[in-house]
Amino acid sequence: MSQNIYQFIDVARVDPAKKPLNIRKIEFVEIYEPFTQQQAGAQADRCLGCGNPYCEWKCPVHNYIPQWLKLANEGRIIEAVELSHQTNTLPEVCGRVCPQDRLCEGACTLNDDFGAVTIGNVEKYITDKAFEMGWKPDMSDVEWTDKKVAIIGAGPAGLSCADILVRNGVKPVVFDRYPEIGGLLTFGIPSFKLEKEVMINRRRIFTDMGVEFRLNTEVGKDIEMAQLLEEYDAVFLGVGTYKNMRAGLANEDAPGVYDALPFLISNTYRVMELEDSPEFIDMRDKKVVVLGGGDTAMDCVRTSIRQGAKNVICAYRRDEANMPGSKREVKNAREEGVKFMFNLQPLGIELNEQGRVSGVKVVKTALGEPDDAGRRRPEPVEGSEHVLSADAVIMAFGFQPHAMPWLAAHDVELDQWGRIKAPKAGAFAFQTSNAKIFAGGDAVRGSDLVVTAIDEGRKAAEGILDYLEV
Ligand code: FAD
Ligand code: SF4
Repeated sequence: MSQNIYQFIDVARVDPAKKPLNIRKIEFVEIYEPFTQQQAGAQADRCLGCGNPYCEWKCPVHNYIPQWLKLANEGRIIEAVELSHQTNTLPEVCGRVCPQDRLCEGACTLNDDFGAVTIGNVEKYITDKAFEMGWKPDMSDVEWTDKKVAIIGAGPAGLSCADILVRNGVKPVVFDRYPEIGGLLTFGIPSFKLEKEVMINRRRIFTDMGVEFRLNTEVGKDIEMAQLLEEYDAVFLGVGTYKNMRAGLANEDAPGVYDALPFLISNTYRVMELEDSPEFIDMRDKKVVVLGGGDTAMDCVRTSIRQGAKNVICAYRRDEANMPGSKREVKNAREEGVKFMFNLQPLGIELNEQGRVSGVKVVKTALGEPDDAGRRRPEPVEGSEHVLSADAVIMAFGFQPHAMPWLAAHDVELDQWGRIKAPKAGAFAFQTSNAKIFAGGDAVRGSDLVVTAIDEGRKAAEGILDYLEV
């Protein structure tokens, strides 16, 4: 199809249709219908093909967006998917879960007046369609070396590191304590945003490319770091951040108070019907209060709805405009029946006579002066304390680096927050203070985004290749 330069006026931005609410409220399936070829082409054709595209600069992996939009419009799917894999290891994942309103689409020239190009959904369409057509990365030109690298963590950082290494003839062996690859893509992000089959398909693709997975294997417990350092030419740490942040509320360890991640992980085990599941945390028929306002909080409220909670409240201490979560997910949560209560700061957990949760004591807040990060500080309004009734409370305040005693003996320096020090601009990109160990993703930058973990995993692989002189 040739390009219509007025397409952005003739054709409005259209997002893919959502499944009906009666399905969305009970099923753990992606809520968006896929684009048809015609829809993807028409939406891609709205791109102006800007000479110096802002979308590309705002995308953390600097995808060649206008170029693959043009190829998608012309129906040249295989060329489009090859191009998109030049900069991104998991484009079908980013297309689904990137907060595009803050990244590529937020920077699109058309954004304010005409509606940004639906970049994420076309990115997803290209990769899904290519897989449907039987596309696989072409490894026929790879010249294999005798080098091998141990990768700890099969999240987006580890997988992206493996992707670049294997394409350069270095054998990656990926260790993960979970029974499936993906890290938080599988065990954190629920399947109404990213269906589990997406990563299962990727495991098959990576395995065919020559990546080896050792799942159900925890480094420091099932295998020692010292052994990896002895047997491999380098080690990459893509271990994420798994310490749940708490607010220090009275009674926060009471029965009925849960951290976000164990709740979401237990739900994933149930959805995937995996063996050796941790205890299932069930919100059926419960009055649920989720504390927090980020993407994790949105995933908790929407999971609770699908489990059959009686009602679900999201309580956040700032106003809606200052919520860190994606606007798209807040809208989806609201549509599914979640009640949002803004400007409420939790003070403590209220207990019933049996010592179980009966509510959350909160105080209203007004927004004061901006903090160091430029966000206005919530300040309690005197005399406005009251209790939100609850049978279950989920804490979704974010994550910090977890302790890794198994790393301590190997001279890997951490910063004051426990993040692994691995500078991008070191002698070799993302090398730690132990020359043989590299790191990237959340464990280095603090909990962030899928696409930034992908970016760091890929760049760390370049650092490893330089270090190994491949
Ligand atoms: P992870 O994905 O955490 O992967 C680390 C892996 O290392 C895990 O599989 C873990 O099992 C493994 N591991 C750790 N220690 C060991 C060990 N000793 N031995 C073996 N294996 C080990 N980002 C977005 O862009 N969009 C979203 O919509 C979004 N939603 C999110 C929702 C939730 C609930 C959460 C928690 C995060 C969300 N994020 C989202 C953030 C995103 O998922 C992370 O930033 C990203 O997954 C980080 O990638 P990573 O590879 O660094 O770590
Ligand atoms: Fe946009 Fe994310 Fe895709 Fe980059 S990777 S183009 S930011 S959706």
